[in-house]
Amino acid sequence: MENCIFCKIIAGEIPSAKVYEDDEMLIFKDIQPKAKIHLLCVPKQHFAYLAELDEEKSALLGRMLKKVADLRGELGLADGYRLVINQGELAGQTVRHLHVHILGGEKLDWE
Ligand code: AMP
Ligand code: ZN
Repeated sequence: MENCIFCKIIAGEIPSAKVYEDDEMLIFKDIQPKAKIHLLCVPKQHFAYLAELDEEKSALLGRMLKKVADLRGELGLADGYRLVINQGELAGQTVRHLHVHILGGEKLDWE
């Protein structure tokens, strides 16, 4: 997808601090961390909104969530973590490529 910053990261055109990659997803460090640990899990397939989920994309999102859970120990999240998916303007979504924020590494306040 042209001009999508996460597609460029996935393609290796923009550097990122990758912590996990397979053929369908990438997990990398958020460049402006809002918690001690702040990662983003993105599908390699470009789509922006949960409203676009079909059966295949739903299954992919399920595998992304399961991967985060499976990797929680390695990622330093064994004591707990929070997942956030911003959708649309009022939520402050700035990148129109679906991404799951992974926050942890400290006690998280609810904002
Ligand atoms: P959102 O506001 O939910 O769309 O989140 C987008 C997130 O992407 C923000 O937390 C940004 O800090 C993060 N971000 C933007 N550009 C980059 C980048 N080049 N590398 C890592 N994270 C980025
Ligand atoms: Zn994209």
